[in-house]
Amino acid sequence: MIPMQANVLWHHATVTRQRREQMNGHKSFILWFTGLSGAGKSTLAHCVEESLFLHGCRTYVFDGDNVRHGLCADLGFSDADRAENIRRIGEMSKLFIDAGGIALAAFISPFRKDREIVRASVKAGDFIEIFCHAPLSVCEQRDVKGLYRKARRGEIPNFTGISSPYETPGNPEIIVMTGESTVEECARQIIGYLQHKGKINPIRSESIKQQNL
Ligand code: ADP
Repeated sequence: MIPMQANVLWHHATVTRQRREQMNGHKSFILWFTGLSGAGKSTLAHCVEESLFLHGCRTYVFDGDNVRHGLCADLGFSDADRAENIRRIGEMSKLFIDAGGIALAAFISPFRKDREIVRASVKAGDFIEIFCHAPLSVCEQRDVKGLYRKARRGEIPNFTGISSPYETPGNPEIIVMTGESTVEECARQIIGYLQHKGKINPIRSESIKQQNL
């Protein structure tokens, strides 16, 4: 990691986060979806985003695979690279909430410490951890990308849940049972939490629809 530059100073903007939030009509925050591969992080993040977007919220989904094509293309799946991957995504998400948006980050992010570093780097309430809880057996049966099959054959080293650990969140803001509930039920639970916490204005629950992703 490059050391912090002593002579580099943070420039304070006159257009502040608070002013941006006022203009947008909602708070900015990070929704951090964590869980095994195939647990439903991406599906759920896009479903929640669709509902928020339809209600005029400024949103963006940061997705594991997409980020690894660009910003984190130089990183692999060793423990150190996974930590650096999450650090960069955390920094990116922080800039995004400073810009007044809602960042939906869908990453396996298997290590508790890495997630806690992101949480600690923002204000209390800005980091909303969503544990997408589905048993390994369900994820493996879904095998959306065929990766479990490859991992079982030993073709993918350090595969979370098979040959690399997943550390479940100790105290997440939200647990969604993605192995047994529908996408819509999980999305409603998340939207309900955001309304209850005053992060967004009321959204009619019947408008939450699963997207054909
Ligand atoms: P991940 O991003 O965690 O790797 P994906 O979203 O790519 O997982 O795939 C999850 C799969 O599980 C999708 O095919 C999705 O339709 C299905 N699924 C079933 N129930 C749910 C649920 N409650 N939440 C999210 N996905 C679900």
